Amino acid sequence: MAHHQILIVGGGAAGITVAAQLKRARTALDVAILEPAHDHYYQPGWTLVGGGVFSLEDTHRAERDLIPSGVHWIQAGASSFDPEHNRVTTTTGATVSYDLLIVATGMKLCWDRIEGLSEALGKGGVCSNYSKEFTAYTWEAIQAFKGGNAVFTCAPMPIKCPGAPQKIAYLADDVFKKKKLQANVIYATATPGIFGVPVYAAPLREVVKRKGIDARYNHVLTAVRADKKEAVFKVTEGESSREEVIPYNLLHVTPPMAAPDVVAESPLANGAGFVEVDQFSLQHVRFANVFSLGDVSGMPNSKTAAAVRGQAPVLVANLLALLDGRPLEAAYDGYSCCPLITGYGKTIMAEFNYKQEPAPSFPLDPTKERWSMWFVKRKILPALYWNRMLTGAQHERRFMPGVK
Ligand SMILES: Cc1cc2nc3c(=O)[nH]c(=O)nc-3n(C[C@H](O)[C@H](O)[C@H](O)COP(=O)(O)OP(=O)(O)OC[C@H]3O[C@@H](n4cnc5c(N)ncnc54)[C@H](O)[C@@H]3O)c2cc1C
Repeated sequence: MAHHQILIVGGGAAGITVAAQLKRARTALDVAILEPAHDHYYQPGWTLVGGGVFSLEDTHRAERDLIPSGVHWIQAGASSFDPEHNRVTTTTGATVSYDLLIVATGMKLCWDRIEGLSEALGKGGVCSNYSKEFTAYTWEAIQAFKGGNAVFTCAPMPIKCPGAPQKIAYLADDVFKKKKLQANVIYATATPGIFGVPVYAAPLREVVKRKGIDARYNHVLTAVRADKKEAVFKVTEGESSREEVIPYNLLHVTPPMAAPDVVAESPLANGAGFVEVDQFSLQHVRFANVFSLGDVSGMPNSKTAAAVRGQAPVLVANLLALLDGRPLEAAYDGYSCCPLITGYGKTIMAEFNYKQEPAPSFPLDPTKERWSMWFVKRKILPALYWNRMLTGAQHERRFMPGVK
């Protein structure tokens, strides 16, 4: 049986970042990453793939080029967790034991929870930026749109980057207006409001009004009838609910998301299936040698790659403290960032924490739409991701002790 001092399950944004920071902190650590995929994608770039600014290839790198030097890559997935015995079994039938475990598998996309969606995707104007298979088709569908209803959906929380479902609606609206098309842009969201953080919801309501977008709240997509080009929603109104059918010419879907089954069905999960860690220390509440970060972790933060930038230094500091027998003093403040693209050349850089307070990185009013923040989203953040975050070079101010 293979054994590693630190086993990281998942080599996405979170797994690679934390591995790189661990090796920078202590070269001698024996770190392994369990990750089945050959390819790594910068998923935050997919909004701009769907908006015709990036190609899918711009967001792609080979996983082997990102595994930090000195880290052992086990190219397989985890098929079960046995935290009582410090073991993980893999999809190739092997067992790997560890001293310390970091769970970073991300979330799974639940296309099948929407009747008719899997069959409809990728043709007939049904697209989604949430999958590498379909994000390029979003741009094709926007370009092919001739008028009528363009419907953009948002699934119940939690989802990756809760702002992404509306960003693509704003970009598409710009394209339609430029072409002077007769378009009804409908944003049908499962949420009760436009954005969960009040300070950023206010300017977004103004954006929706200015653009004349028809925002419909408490709308959960339940079925896609591709033959009739109809999207079916369950609409909740107080205690009751009703069905609403919206005809579409273009339909951009944000699917429901969940923790992968292997995590949700393991002893590591909380009631919702996510890894049950303390929201400040990122240490598991029942298994002291287990930590988690990224989308699969059970903290109540907004799930973004930016959140990983806030979490990774905390996790590394606390894991090293545990190794040394010191108290775990670093605390994550819930930092997350959603660059809310409100059109080509316009972005509200929404940064916030657990308390839903603005946490701006720039000395500017963060609630304003700015060209400079569009530039940051388009040029700076991708470079930061590949060159600073995944290499472990970036050190955040937010992991200082005492932020609780
Ligand atoms: C359309 C879209 C727009 C977004 N926009 C933004 C944005 O503007 N800003 C932002 O900060 N974030 C954004 N995000 C969110 C961001 O991409 C995620 O929050 C981030 O990738 C989370 O990192 P992660 O490592 O937890 O998960 P991922 O990056 O998804 O990585 C998970 C990894 O775990 C692996 N894995 C899965 N199951 C197993 C298993 N059983 N065993 C081993 N490995 C496994 C997967 O292969 C994958 O490599 C966006 C995402 C999407 C899809």
